[in-house]
Amino acid sequence: MALRLYNTLSKQKELFEPVNPGKVGIYVCGPTVYKDSHIGHAVGPVIFDALKKFLQYKGYDVTLVINITDVDDKLIIEAGNRGISVKELAAEVSAGYFDAMDLLGVDSIDHYPRATDHITEIINMIQQLAENEAAYAVDGDVYCDISKVKDYGKLSHRKSEDQLEGSRQLSGNEKRNPADFALWKKAQPDEIGWDSPWGYGRPGWHIECSAMSMKFLGETFDIHGGGLDLIFPHHENEIAQSETATCKPFAKYWMHNGLTRLKTKAASGEWKAEKMSKSLGNIKTLKSLLAEVSPAVIRFFLLSTHYRRPIDFSEESIIATQKGMMNIYRTLERLTRISKDDVYSDLFQARCFEQAMDTDTDTDKQLFEYITAGQLRFLEALDDDFNTAGAISVLYDLSSTINKFIDDHQLESAASDNAKVLMLESGRMISTLGKILGLFTGPLESNENSDQLSAQLMDIMIELRANARKEKNFALADMIRDRLKAIDIVIEDRPGSTTWTKG
Ligand SMILES: [Zn+2]
Repeated sequence: MALRLYNTLSKQKELFEPVNPGKVGIYVCGPTVYKDSHIGHAVGPVIFDALKKFLQYKGYDVTLVINITDVDDKLIIEAGNRGISVKELAAEVSAGYFDAMDLLGVDSIDHYPRATDHITEIINMIQQLAENEAAYAVDGDVYCDISKVKDYGKLSHRKSEDQLEGSRQLSGNEKRNPADFALWKKAQPDEIGWDSPWGYGRPGWHIECSAMSMKFLGETFDIHGGGLDLIFPHHENEIAQSETATCKPFAKYWMHNGLTRLKTKAASGEWKAEKMSKSLGNIKTLKSLLAEVSPAVIRFFLLSTHYRRPIDFSEESIIATQKGMMNIYRTLERLTRISKDDVYSDLFQARCFEQAMDTDTDTDKQLFEYITAGQLRFLEALDDDFNTAGAISVLYDLSSTINKFIDDHQLESAASDNAKVLMLESGRMISTLGKILGLFTGPLESNENSDQLSAQLMDIMIELRANARKEKNFALADMIRDRLKAIDIVIEDRPGSTTWTKG
């Protein structure tokens, strides 16, 4: 199986072949730390952390870098409003961001470089551009001359008129071309800034990412990621200045994730999705969201949509995700109880699985075949442009098939030694696949314990009711169903299995 990724540069899925065999470098544009992070800031880190884990599973040595923009007009204004320094503001907001990343299981980032720690690299790069006659200074500001850039517009696929349109509002009279963009901005003596060959000032946003990505990953690296809204002008300008400075290709694959939208129900009952933005005021901070919803659910939610699609966020979609995730956890708990072993403890071992099969029945062989085929389907989905949504749907399938097997064979009451191995390896398969995306890494922690206990009790109730029905004791079966209904638990009989939901 080979990984194919959609590349914004070519607008098609391409076979993934790293620049240096066996090694992968990934750079993702991180937050501008002037206000608390919101769910949109978690999308890129969760996706690329999961992509790194998948690439590691495939045997690559991966370096993942997410930058922190800690100097910018927005930071200067916000710090001024709050009467603190830019440095203090950046430290406070980035601390909140790192806490959220920890909670979300984003634990594979190798470097979080800050722009203010890389002023020397930024100045050196601007000087290189000036030597290549692609940068010019006007009264302390320095601009990139896009007429000197080969193929400007190749990422955003914009025609030159569009570029002019997009940059007109930014243009000043002093620029040679309205689409030229700032590499260095003159600063006032009382503002944050650094000395440079062009005077006191601070870097432009785009040059920060070029300088930091090259420092950690080299002049040509594999994957550059970020939100769709960064394609133009940010990423277009990163390519322009990087390739003009080094005369080498910059990033080989450009991966852009969809943006988060807020899904709300109108009075008419119709759903509508609108862009989330600070200016619309419809954003919940990541901190307040994580206080209400388990971080594991948020991670699962973000990976349940294909990364190139918009993520529609609503209370209902979070609740649905939580239910789906808990179903898989409940299956894993059942498998732990039946096998009397820890399904999270070790990697799936096909050999044990096959040995257990040797002496068992055809039905067991069917389960074995279904599960091993499931592993293949899971990995194929990820190989197809990192389709985590497709991979997660395989986990749902595996979970419900295993549940049905447990019910059909009444394994909760008695399981043979072979059945125990079969259940242990089935559980290990789900958790092994989940771990590739940083999901189902271990049993849920204390705050989810009550959910787990409810689930276990409900499994017992469902089994008791099934037995009552088998013995034609319909009065008892109905009583169990009605009493549960009275506490808002609805039991649903489906062909081959019984499910429950809490209203
Ligand atoms: Zn960037």
